[in-house]
Amino acid sequence: MIVVLAIDALEYKKVLEYNCENLKQHYFGKTDISEFSQPRTMVLWSSFMTGENKEKEVLGEGNKEMWSKKWNLDETFFKNFKNPVVLDLPGYSYELDVHEKSRKLLKEFFETEDKDKKLQTKQEYNKDAFDHHKKIKEQFFKALEEDHDFVLGYFSVADVIGHLNFGDNLVMKMIYKDLDEIAGQVKEKADKIIVLSDHGMEAVGVFGDHSTYGFWSTNFKDLGNPKITDFFDVLGNL
Ligand SMILES: [Zn+2]
Repeated sequence: MIVVLAIDALEYKKVLEYNCENLKQHYFGKTDISEFSQPRTMVLWSSFMTGENKEKEVLGEGNKEMWSKKWNLDETFFKNFKNPVVLDLPGYSYELDVHEKSRKLLKEFFETEDKDKKLQTKQEYNKDAFDHHKKIKEQFFKALEEDHDFVLGYFSVADVIGHLNFGDNLVMKMIYKDLDEIAGQVKEKADKIIVLSDHGMEAVGVFGDHSTYGFWSTNFKDLGNPKITDFFDVLGNL
């Protein structure tokens, strides 16, 4: 079984700082996403699965509409597998409702001047993110027990929580430890594993914004400083 742990906004520096050995695996480094004008989640995962820079096409859909973009199996490297499962990936199997609500709450948080409303919004936002994380984690571990030749789990918690809490070391450390534990459990089940982020994150006060490189690791090969589109061939030819 080949497994991809697709982690939104997993930050290279934090993986090192928190010593996440399972996320680092045998080989790890940064991805080069400098060909993109901005580190956008939907653009980067679309380019990852199709092996082509999809920035123009995705951004051309419009800021709100792009989130409903869906690539066909035939356009992705998933087609090379007999029985693949792809959980919650933006541009493929994304759970639109949950993520749309998160974006709406984030907007409300920054727009309101009312302190109570701000706090309330942040609590709801954080709770939704952790609830969704728990749900995807369950689906992911279930898939690892089934008869698949390829399993991809997309985890958004580091990005969603990071946007409002990246400066909170306790919260971020807890999330990275949890993601590291997930990677540890994957090791028992999979032959070849890739951990990959779309972009990382940097602190802006207590908040977080996307950094302009991603993180990769494998248990089988040193990939150097790959582009996110290189994974189409790496994963299509295993
Ligand atoms: Zn983000």
